[in-house]
Amino acid sequence: MTETTAPITQDVMTIPRKLPEGPMNIVGLTRDKLREVLIENGTPEKQAKMRVNQIWQWVYQWGVRDFAEMTNLSKAYRADLAERFVIEIPEMVSKQVSADGTRKYLARIAGGHEVEVVYIPESDRGTLCISSQVGCTLTCSFCHTGTQKLVRNLTAGEIVGQVMMARDDLDEWPEPGQGTGENGPRLLSNIVLMGMGEPLYNFENVRDAMKIAMDGEGISLSRRRITLSTSGVVPEIAKTAQEIGCMLAVSFHATTDEVRDKLVPINRKWNIETLLDALREYPKASNSERITFEYVMLKDVNDSDEDARRLVQLIKGIPAKINLIPFNEWPGAPHQRSDWDRIEAFADIVYKAGYASPIRTPRGEDIMAACGQLKSATERARKSRREVEAEAGMG
Ligand code: SAH
Ligand code: SF4
Repeated sequence: MTETTAPITQDVMTIPRKLPEGPMNIVGLTRDKLREVLIENGTPEKQAKMRVNQIWQWVYQWGVRDFAEMTNLSKAYRADLAERFVIEIPEMVSKQVSADGTRKYLARIAGGHEVEVVYIPESDRGTLCISSQVGCTLTCSFCHTGTQKLVRNLTAGEIVGQVMMARDDLDEWPEPGQGTGENGPRLLSNIVLMGMGEPLYNFENVRDAMKIAMDGEGISLSRRRITLSTSGVVPEIAKTAQEIGCMLAVSFHATTDEVRDKLVPINRKWNIETLLDALREYPKASNSERITFEYVMLKDVNDSDEDARRLVQLIKGIPAKINLIPFNEWPGAPHQRSDWDRIEAFADIVYKAGYASPIRTPRGEDIMAACGQLKSATERARKSRREVEAEAGMG
């Protein structure tokens, strides 16, 4: 997957957006909701289910954005739909491609807010990291998103729309009439909810969006290829199993409440023991094989041999994999990345206790696309661009 050898930035034309009080956007509506609005807008009740199926397939399977192209609907019905509805996804305002092939997109959503979306190609998969909120209400000490206030939750359409936007860029929609995946391996084969925001504080929109991503007549990704990462919103964990059924990752990051209270402040509300109790129930409820424990390696904070031993002790009995994340530094961050031999020694203890302990390779570092660096980096780049322009007297 070689893209380019040097990072490039591509500015994309800005398309004027519809006013909020204009036609309704159908992207992100559940099947039931779409049926309801079609009926409200004059589709006979007896036909509604079939119309939902047809529209659904055009939008989510073939990536069509114009009702006029939906050739299995009558011309009059298509015109009718076009008057009342739109098919809108976030607007891609820029794209950067890293030397390692990682793509970072900036997606603009209603209100002019922007979120970052990262596509990470690997030999056996292509993972899209998407956002669920603009900013975050939580304030994890190592996370740059945590330094930004929550601006708002993304809608279901804006969440699944990030996937559709990336598929546009990867040129990965099947030809109308073809099924998804008929042309061999998929470029976008996995989704991780690991971008900006806490997905379980925007539960319903995340659920509706992921249902569309999993729908067999839609984007059609298996629930095993979708991973939701949470800082530990305990009351929503069982609901995630029941209502979404995707894979779960937990930002664990510490082995004592004293340390976790500081790193992941939500721990003061739901501590390690409460969190582990909820996780013990998760695989049973959702048939997921394993829970991923994310563990950011912070020098002299959580990276001792003792921590590693305590970690494996704590998670005993939970089918788990431990993903060690070398800390991605950002300007002003109160932590440093653990030394490499420390990370390896930690990984070794975890591995010898019987758990997979992959060390996550930072991807797209040259374009600041790594975990915990999102959005802010772009804001910084923008600011400096403005500064540069001001200095050059460009105004
Ligand atoms: N809010 C959710 C999902 C978004 S964060 C959560 O906290 O799980 C996705 C992952 O990136 C989390 O495991 C988070 O702890 C980690 N992360 C955040 N900032 C990071 C940084 N600077 N370096 C490495 N990992 C980071
Ligand atoms: Fe929010 Fe997750 Fe960052 Fe914590 S790590 S501040 S929960 S986005």
